[in-house]
Amino acid sequence: MGLFEQVPGNGTRHDPVNLPLPTYADVQAAAQRLEGVAHRTPVLTSRSLNAELGAEVFFKPENLQRMGAFKFRGAYNALSLLSPQARARGVVAFSSGNHAQAVALSARLLGCSATIVMPHDASPAKLAATQGYGATVVGYDRYGEDPAAIAQSIAEREGRSFIPPFDHPHVLAGQGTSALELFEDVGALDRLFVCVGGGGLISGCALAAKGLSPQCEVIGVEPEAGNDVQQSLRLGMRVKIETPHTIADGAQSRQVGQYPFALIQRLVSDIHTVSDEQLRQAMRWYAQHMKLVVEPTGCLSLAAARQMGHALRGQRVGVIISGGNVDLDRYAQLLSGA
Ligand SMILES: *Cc1c(COP(=O)(O)O)cnc(C)c1O
Repeated sequence: MGLFEQVPGNGTRHDPVNLPLPTYADVQAAAQRLEGVAHRTPVLTSRSLNAELGAEVFFKPENLQRMGAFKFRGAYNALSLLSPQARARGVVAFSSGNHAQAVALSARLLGCSATIVMPHDASPAKLAATQGYGATVVGYDRYGEDPAAIAQSIAEREGRSFIPPFDHPHVLAGQGTSALELFEDVGALDRLFVCVGGGGLISGCALAAKGLSPQCEVIGVEPEAGNDVQQSLRLGMRVKIETPHTIADGAQSRQVGQYPFALIQRLVSDIHTVSDEQLRQAMRWYAQHMKLVVEPTGCLSLAAARQMGHALRGQRVGVIISGGNVDLDRYAQLLSGA
């Protein structure tokens, strides 16, 4: 029986403290489960960026992944690892963003029912996409209700397994397959830039680096306004902050997950921060130079690489683009600097 499953009448069995930390082998196993299901996104390069930095930069564009972000990888891996009985009872998740669509799509592909708890004011595009994948959406009031408590009570009432967005070994191992593919395609790197919200993506990517490019320095990137992981790494304990005001809505998490943090402490070299203005510039740069629509959070990694500038000279550098889901009206506003 999976470790995240619900035992009806017995509360949740999820106890993050008692699960073993995932390893590189878990990322490899996740890659096998995802083969032929997730897109193997390409590796992209830009001569103009290489010239700007005097470096060789390799982009992994997960904005081109199914449902528009890397989150499909972790959700599909986690759902695949549920027992047939648990899958038959269905899953529940809460999210205002990409995790909702990732769980909904994974559930549909695996023939499993999904309930997603989303704020009443979630973007219409995200709501429509989640429902379009066949999930039941339960609304909540962003300013008055606790989505985790709502998801938990649905899990208990209906016997559904709760699928967390980042704080679970199966989720983060799935996210790491993005970097695994990058290393497989281009070989070892000197540096890898990865955005950090709750830390699922970067911790999985760091495991992939450990397996395939052990000398690679993995750099996490947070918005200036919400540098909780930077603070946590310096203090050696998980700091909790108020919800930061930033355009990087995928990195507005208030506290890094327990599993991600344990791996970040061991495997991540440093955390950099960038401003919203730098994110806007990166977003324009992607549109103009690479013809890519990248959401603000997906711009964190490039913004940090450009901030390092010539310190990257002569290096082989990886940049994970985490996703591209942004309302077009909002995108136009952000590009024009409004
Ligand atoms: C969820 C998400 C992130 C943050 O990922 P974590 O695993 O929570 O660190 C970054 N970018 C996008 C596009 C996301 O959907």
